[in-house]
Amino acid sequence: MERQHRRVLVTGAGGFIGHHLVKRLKNDGYWVRGVDVKLPEYEPSAADEFELLDLRAWDNCLLATRGDIAEVYNLAADMGGIGYITASLADIARNNTLINTHMLEAARANGVQRFLFSSSACVYAGYKQKDADVTPLKEEDAYPADPEPGYGWEKLYAEQLCQYYWHDFGFETRIVRFHNVYGPLGTYDGGKEKAPAAISRKVALARDGGEIDVWGDGLQTRSFMYVDDCVEGLVRLMASDFRDPLNLGRDDIISVNDLVKLIASIAGKQLRIRHDLAKPQGVRGRNSDNTLLRNVLGWEPSITLEQGLAVTYRWIEVELARAGRISSRAVVAAQ
Ligand code: NAD
Repeated sequence: MERQHRRVLVTGAGGFIGHHLVKRLKNDGYWVRGVDVKLPEYEPSAADEFELLDLRAWDNCLLATRGDIAEVYNLAADMGGIGYITASLADIARNNTLINTHMLEAARANGVQRFLFSSSACVYAGYKQKDADVTPLKEEDAYPADPEPGYGWEKLYAEQLCQYYWHDFGFETRIVRFHNVYGPLGTYDGGKEKAPAAISRKVALARDGGEIDVWGDGLQTRSFMYVDDCVEGLVRLMASDFRDPLNLGRDDIISVNDLVKLIASIAGKQLRIRHDLAKPQGVRGRNSDNTLLRNVLGWEPSITLEQGLAVTYRWIEVELARAGRISSRAVVAAQ
């Protein structure tokens, strides 16, 4: 069967990346089932079928993968920004272990042809990320293992499990390691949001000349990938024959202080930063080495932070105006 006529399952389709991926797959002509414990927050899903299922339960994983599904993008996970993933190690590790072990086996039992697991740069060894001017991380830098407690250990284990399924059963698995994905329609408030969305919200809520809180000393560095690039990479990896873990991110880093300055300049505001050293800041520096990504996919993310943040910031601003938290006149004036 031609790829585009296949039936595809996206788990985590009520979440940020999953929602964008469903739209992309629909545009490409696939029949798509979305599954999540919640509906997408900001607009309806484009999926042909959307089912509310808790994928920690084995029976629900069997239901999700039923009916001639050819490909599974397994994006469902209990996750959030650094504050969230460092606060509940046991719950996150247990919930995600249940989702990933059950989804993998249910997909195999139901005759799925390809299974893509969404891993994370949080699998990388902490001892290689102690410097803000970090050496970009190659895929082999996940070992000897010293990943992020809880969330990172579970991702690393699930990566191995995918590889065991290929080794023992010839089950086709793909493993992607995302580096900080951001964009419109992502959580920007409530405790699960990540740095670009959290900072955009704070900047939008601040008055020009005011002050915003930043977690840590702001010298920590990261690379950030716009969600359209993320989705493009996912589709390309699924179509490839590559079964080992692969980075998917941008390979240019920025400090959190400079990220604030960039977002403030998009907003047209002058702001002072107040550093909150009591809050978690994660590893000191993290960047993606894209050598393998370029070799395997013949492609890498190309949307710059300036381009992606301009769209993301404006979307968050409009959402805040819609919620009555900032004046809609200010939003219109800025556009
Ligand atoms: P997200 O939180 O927006 O989406 C995850 C979705 O999984 C949520 O909608 C959530 O409701 C759903 N989910 C959680 N528990 C579930 C359960 N028991 N049953 C069914 N659904 C459940 O996160 P995202 O940013 O879209 O991330 C998607 C995937 O990418 C996740 O696996 C995440 O770990 C991984 N990832 C994301 C990033 C990033 O920067 N966004 C970075 C590294 C890895």
